[in-house]
Amino acid sequence: MNLITKAKILGEVKCHMYTIEWQKRGLPYTHILTWLKDSLHVHRVDDFISAEIPNPQEDPDLFCIVTKQMVHGPCGSINLHSPCMKDGICTKR
Ligand SMILES: [Zn+2]
Repeated sequence: MNLITKAKILGEVKCHMYTIEWQKRGLPYTHILTWLKDSLHVHRVDDFISAEIPNPQEDPDLFCIVTKQMVHGPCGSINLHSPCMKDGICTKR
């Protein structure tokens, strides 16, 4: 919250609220709602939100978990046996 409210990484903050919750195995996560003084333009969203697939040479186990459990596809005509496929069509579109 210090990065958002004090370091102002998203810009000037008018107000904010958040709650911390715990998953069944005890891992905490948060829901954060922030009102900014100036709107965050669509073209800047990628500056703040990103995802990275682990390096398969540095951490092959984590690479396998992420690519198997957290990435959809490839599916369709490229991979007819993907778990999302049913009757030759991706059920996730
Ligand atoms: Zn699919």
